[in-house]
Amino acid sequence: MAIYEDFDEGYFEERLTSAEQTEEENETEISLRPETLDDFTGQSSVKEQLRIAIDAAKLRGEALEHVLLFGPPGLGKTTLSQIIANEMGTKIQITSGPAIEKSGDLLALLTNSGEGDVLFIDEIHRLPKNLVEMLYSAMEDKVVDIFLGKGPSARSIRMPLKSFTLVGATTRAGQLTQPLRARFGHVMRLELYTPEELSVIVKRSAGILGIEIDEEGALELASRSRGTPRIANRLLKRVRDYAQIKGDGKIDLEITKYALEKLDIDKLGLDNIDRRMLTTIIKFYGGGPVGMDTLAATIGEEAITLEDVYEPYLLQIGFISRTPRGRCCTYLAYEHMGIPMNSDKNSDKKNNGQITAFDGEE
Ligand code: ADP
Repeated sequence: MAIYEDFDEGYFEERLTSAEQTEEENETEISLRPETLDDFTGQSSVKEQLRIAIDAAKLRGEALEHVLLFGPPGLGKTTLSQIIANEMGTKIQITSGPAIEKSGDLLALLTNSGEGDVLFIDEIHRLPKNLVEMLYSAMEDKVVDIFLGKGPSARSIRMPLKSFTLVGATTRAGQLTQPLRARFGHVMRLELYTPEELSVIVKRSAGILGIEIDEEGALELASRSRGTPRIANRLLKRVRDYAQIKGDGKIDLEITKYALEKLDIDKLGLDNIDRRMLTTIIKFYGGGPVGMDTLAATIGEEAITLEDVYEPYLLQIGFISRTPRGRCCTYLAYEHMGIPMNSDKNSDKKNNGQITAFDGEE
C-alpha cells in the first residue's frame, strides 16, 4: 500500500519509543530508579497521597493499606512500589500477573511476606481468575484457604498471613473485578509527565550515568519522550552514543536534534507506529471513526499495544479523539502529518470546535 512507502524497513526491530522495558534496561534500570519519594519527580498528587498514607501508617505502627497504581507503562509504577517499601522500611517481592501461574506460586509469595512487607504484582489484570479470588481473602482477612484432596475426602485448611501490603499495577484498571478494586485502600492514577518534569529526570539520569548534558539538550530530549520517563532514559543513552561518535561526548541541542532525527523520532516524539496509526486513520478511514480492532488489524499491530502504549500520548497531545464509534484524527494530526484536511471529501467540523474528519461508516 502506498501509505507505507515512507516507513523504513526494519522498524519493527527496535522500538525506541516503546514504553515497554527491554532486557538491557532491566539490568541497568535499578541504578536509575529513585529510592525515596523526595527523589521521585512529578506525579505530585500521587506523591502527596503516598506521603500522608506512609507517615500515618508508620505512626500507627501498621502496614500500609493496599495500593493500586494505574496508568500507561513506563511512568514509575514499579519504582513507586520500591519507594513504598523503602519508606516503610520493609522488604519487597516483585512479580507480575502473567508470571504467577499456579495457586502454589501465589501462596508462596503470600506466605513469604513478612509483617508490613510489600508484594508488588505488575499487570495485575492478567492474574488468572482463580488466583484473584485467592487474593480477596488474603487482602481482606489476611488468610488463605488451601484445598487438599478431592472428592469426599477433600478438606480445606485456613492459613493465616502477616499484614502485608499489596501494591498492584495495571495499565487497565477497568479490567479488574469490582471486589478486587474495592480491596485497595488507595487507588492512584499516574499521568504522563510534562517536558519540564522529564527534563529534570533526564538530567538526574545523566548525572548518575556520568553523561554531560546541557539545559537545552535535556529539554529537547524530554519533549520527544512521549511523557514517559522510561523512554526519556532510553533516548538519553542513544543520544549519548551519537554525542560520543559524532560530537565531543557532550549532549547539547544540536546533537540531540541530529541523533533523534537519525533515530526517526520526530519533534513530538512520534515514531513509525504513531505515524502509521495517524496516516491509516486519515487515509484508510477518512479521518475516522474507526474501531481499535479494525485499526490494529489494518496496520498489523496488537490492539492492546496500540491502546496501552500508543494511544495515551496521542490523546494527550490532542491528535486523536475517542468517540463511541471509534477513534478519529483531529485537525492537529492532519497538520502534523502534513496532510491537508480538505483533501478529504468528507471532512467536517465537530467536537466542540475541534475539527474531526469522518467518513461516516466503518
Ligand atoms: P512502570 O512500572 O510504570 O512501567 P518503572 O517504575 O519501571 O515504570 O519506571 C521506568 C523507568 O523510568 C525507570 O528506570 C525509572 O527509574 C524511571 N522513572 C519512572 N518514574 C520516574 C520519576 N518520577 N523520576 C525519575 N525516574 C523515573
